[in-house]
Amino acid sequence: MFKYIIVGAGLAGSVMAERIASQLGERVLVVERRRHVGGNCYDEVDDNGILVHRYGPHILHTDSEEVFHYLSGFSEWREYQHRVLGFIDGAKVPLPFNLNSLRMLLPQSLAERLEEKLVGRYGFGARVPILELRESGDPDIEFLADYVYRKVFLNYTRKQWGLKPEEMDPEVTGRVPVVLSRDDRYFTDRYQAVPRDGYTAMVERMLDHPCIKLMLNTSHHEVLELRDGQIHFMGSEFRGKVIFTGKIDELFGYRYGELPYRSLDLQFESADTEWFQEVATVNYPNDYDFTRITEFKHLHPTDSRRTTLLREYPCTHIDGENEACYPVFTDETRAKYERYLELAREFEDLILVGRLAEYRYYDMDDIVLRALQVFEERIL
Ligand code: UDP
Repeated sequence: MFKYIIVGAGLAGSVMAERIASQLGERVLVVERRRHVGGNCYDEVDDNGILVHRYGPHILHTDSEEVFHYLSGFSEWREYQHRVLGFIDGAKVPLPFNLNSLRMLLPQSLAERLEEKLVGRYGFGARVPILELRESGDPDIEFLADYVYRKVFLNYTRKQWGLKPEEMDPEVTGRVPVVLSRDDRYFTDRYQAVPRDGYTAMVERMLDHPCIKLMLNTSHHEVLELRDGQIHFMGSEFRGKVIFTGKIDELFGYRYGELPYRSLDLQFESADTEWFQEVATVNYPNDYDFTRITEFKHLHPTDSRRTTLLREYPCTHIDGENEACYPVFTDETRAKYERYLELAREFEDLILVGRLAEYRYYDMDDIVLRALQVFEERIL
């Protein structure tokens, strides 16, 4: 019999399953609704022979040695530094907006004056969130902040979230600060790499353990039921632990209404050209309805004469129709999440982990770290 049941074979569920199996030697059942493992970092080789991320680009970057070391047990790496350009006023400039972007877009004398002011005030290398830069109190800096706000953030954020930047939790736009350096990389973390054979292969290796039984194409509703403070598995009371990584509102039948998510309409295109763009991702803050185009060949080069592109069109998440990608935090949605947490607390052996179950904008490295921590705190 199983002592642990895990709902979801994304990164959170797979790390938990791997730890329980390899460290405790206990039997784990993993149920996954989709036909594949890996959750939203699932990748596969397409008709062009190019490894593509089916749920949108996933770029692993971390400062955590623990995370990188742990994942290295399941994958070899290809070193890769992510670069993003923003299509602004007909030019493609580095994002996050930095001192090079400034020089490319504004007249030289103005750019030099602004650079001196910014560096004098915040220091060379500083990373300043756009919402903070707008409050600087200095007219020159506020001029620049307003420019970057309009050219980079306002319409991208409207497309991505249906909201203005100032209506969002500052944590969201703070992910892409204005950077006072000439480093054109999107991330500056110590470890930046793509799994050599992709994320799916990495997750498959995590789950490849005699103590782990994986059931694909299986909804948790088919095997689990929560009622009267008890968890039931296939009709009988279950005395082990359930680790749930899916949507918490769905788990409790949307009793308090839905927790909102943004989703993506992902349009893949095969182009008859060797390369389409200079870097893996080009953001389109103002033009077009999509937010960005990713060309996957930059992540995993092949000798294919064609290339595969992905355009992302953000949209509202509708259960059963598209995937829940990004939690939309507001005071109201956080309060609603808290109410669901109250319900979850009635089940002592129910553990919630991951972007959906915790309603957090976790990056991949955050999820791995979180799962390792939950394993130590709640399972060991
Ligand atoms: N953002 C923006 N313009 C950009 C890039 C990002 O306004 O060109 C804002 C937007 O609100 C976005 C957030 O910063 O949702 C975080 O961007 P990130 O690239 O981290 O998003 P992800 O890759 O997770 O979709």
